[in-house]
Amino acid sequence: MAFDIETTDGEVVGQGGFKFQNWAQTYGSSPELYFQPTCAEEVKEILELARQRTKRVKVVGGGHSPSDIACTDDFMIRLDKMHRVLKVDKEKKQVTVEAGILLSELNEVLTKYGLALSNIGAVSEVAAGGVIGTGTHNTGINHGILATQVVSLTMMTASGEILECSESVNADIFQAARLHLGCLGVILTVTLQCRSAFRLQEIQFSSTLPEVLDNLDSHLKASEFFRFFWFPHSENVSVMYQDPTEKLPYSKASWFWDSFVGYYLLEFLLWISTFISSLVPPINRFFFWLLFRGRSERVDISYRVFNFDCLFKQHVQDWAIPIEKTKEAILQLKSWLERNPNVVAHFPVEVRFARGDDILLSPCHQRDSCYMNIIMYRPYGKDVPHEEYWLEYEKIMKRMEGRPHWAKAHTCTRKDFVKMYPGFPKFNNIREKLDPTGMFLNPYLEKVFY
Ligand SMILES: Cc1cc2nc3c(=O)[nH]c(=O)nc-3n(C[C@H](O)[C@H](O)[C@H](O)COP(=O)(O)OP(=O)(O)OC[C@H]3O[C@@H](n4cnc5c(N)ncnc54)[C@H](O)[C@@H]3O)c2cc1C
Repeated sequence: MAFDIETTDGEVVGQGGFKFQNWAQTYGSSPELYFQPTCAEEVKEILELARQRTKRVKVVGGGHSPSDIACTDDFMIRLDKMHRVLKVDKEKKQVTVEAGILLSELNEVLTKYGLALSNIGAVSEVAAGGVIGTGTHNTGINHGILATQVVSLTMMTASGEILECSESVNADIFQAARLHLGCLGVILTVTLQCRSAFRLQEIQFSSTLPEVLDNLDSHLKASEFFRFFWFPHSENVSVMYQDPTEKLPYSKASWFWDSFVGYYLLEFLLWISTFISSLVPPINRFFFWLLFRGRSERVDISYRVFNFDCLFKQHVQDWAIPIEKTKEAILQLKSWLERNPNVVAHFPVEVRFARGDDILLSPCHQRDSCYMNIIMYRPYGKDVPHEEYWLEYEKIMKRMEGRPHWAKAHTCTRKDFVKMYPGFPKFNNIREKLDPTGMFLNPYLEKVFY
């Protein structure tokens, strides 16, 4: 049962007995004390208390990371009470927010000002501090990961000092802090570059793997936000183009797609397949036929089109590889699955693209990249064996010089990251200077840095 504990001076209240679980309920922890501060002064008091008691601290945003990156058994801070929009600069199209704001709230506020985030991922129930911290990305080869939209930020370091950083102030720290992994300090505020509010037209049509891979360049040029979904154990592909439009909202989507029937039927069939795994390939083909054959289209406000229903709880991996290796990587995975019919892979493998950047620990650091997201659902919360698939996928990604998504489970350790990231030592130096005692570490980050 939860109970409240007052700190020594009676000003900050931490809750005992809180259980943390991520969205997919695949990782969780039992923080000794759980805090929901309302201002920077309270965050400072929590850090002071942590120092006195030699406790570690982890901030959690929307709790959506499908890994243990946000877990701690010491002090956990949720910034859901620090979610104000502090400033909207309509001329520069920039917004300054407290880092605990969820994108779902920010999207709505921006719309009122005629602005929008230029690119976001599949969900908006994630916090500004959290999405930048793990390198959340969407798709669009002329768009960087979400952290590239950060113009400046403020952060409270382990000593309680507030640091501001941007391209012109503390520029080195800025290069690290945009993708901070939660290990440099508590991100307090973020200023994001937006664009004028826009609608997106989404066109989804069926194709085949050879067609998409052979014409990748033309697809990349054909749409600002191009992605495709491959249905493993088949050649089936669903291509998705999303582009800004002046058209008014409409939808010519399949009735079935929007209905709950597809959702319930899929979960039930996937659950059955946990007893008869040979059903997975026909399930993939059946759902492609049911939901993705032919063409559908719709227009809506940008964030409603970027976001989509991720169905039910799932395990995922998502690595970024150099864009020129896209075809080779997918064909290697396909061929391995064909040679190992005992291994099954749920649909879809979602393939997205992002522009290279200069952020020290960005998976797209200095190269345009292809992200290849694999998935295994957990029908009714039941785990489907996926270890062999995961392991082979990682082997292929490593051969392709890939870098794992920081939010998503992977087996990499420091020795891998040193090879993957030219800026890894620089990031680690910055981290050690800002947090010499390792206050912001947890078991996930220990594997990264030690
Ligand atoms: C259904 C679903 C869909 C998803 N879709 C996508 C997608 O399209 N693209 C993609 O790239 N990823 C996607 N993800 C992953 C998701 O975007 C990332 O996990 C993201 O980090 C989640 O944000 P969050 O606020 O929940 O962060 P959390 O999981 O709460 O935290 C992530 C990290 O940030 C740290 N942190 C959070 N806030 C702060 C702060 N203020 N100061 C310091 N550290 C902080 C935490 O300590 C932790 O290390 C998806 C995940 C789910 C479950």
